[in-house]
Amino acid sequence: MSEIVEINLERIIPQMEKVLKHQGIPENTAPSEKIIEVFNTSREHFRRLGEPRGIWVEISKEAFAEVYRGEGHNDSTTPVADIFPYAGKLALFAVTLGEAVSLKINSLMAEYDFAGGSMLDSVASEGAELAADYLQESFMNDYLKKANPGSEIKILRYSPGYCGWHISGQKKLFGYLNPEKIKMSFNDRYLMSPLKSITGVMIAARKEKHYFEMIYPCCGSCRTPSCRERLTELERE
Ligand code: SF4
Repeated sequence: MSEIVEINLERIIPQMEKVLKHQGIPENTAPSEKIIEVFNTSREHFRRLGEPRGIWVEISKEAFAEVYRGEGHNDSTTPVADIFPYAGKLALFAVTLGEAVSLKINSLMAEYDFAGGSMLDSVASEGAELAADYLQESFMNDYLKKANPGSEIKILRYSPGYCGWHISGQKKLFGYLNPEKIKMSFNDRYLMSPLKSITGVMIAARKEKHYFEMIYPCCGSCRTPSCRERLTELERE
């Protein structure tokens, strides 16, 4: 089963609080009028230029083990390697916001509008995460339609380049998923085009299987332990 998903742009417009947090402004700090103005302008650029779309494809555990092995450069132990054997279902995915948003970020930077360029970059990063959430919902709905996995089944996503999954993993992921169908590609340094894109695996497993301690080699040098935030959110669901 594979699905190309046209993503409703209005559903992935990020909230100002999230974007400002991405900009390094603490959540309980009131932004200045100037910052609000820059945010509003960036949000309008995003609304006008965003062309979000995504694709996911179901994959067996055996096939995923091969995709995950990639070019053989992953860490010796990783959260994904320990969790995916417990999955009820797995899917590879890719989402992109299209080329125009990234071009606009570049042009703002080239015009020395660093505040505008950086804010649009944050809006787009948050928007890409929301687009991935949208895709995750599509995958979960399909799972619920075909099976009765129970309310304890939850999905978390992991991407090449993070948590011990080497960036070169993009090669086999692209080979299996074919995100070229949604006009995505990668270069010889595994950098994706369009830039504001996310790829990875969605792991649907019983809630308790997603939890882990930060004991992996990748965790020692991790500056943004977003896994803790995601596991806390899982607890709230
Ligand atoms: S601490 Fe960082 S590297 Fe380790 S699992 Fe969490 S997000 Fe990944």
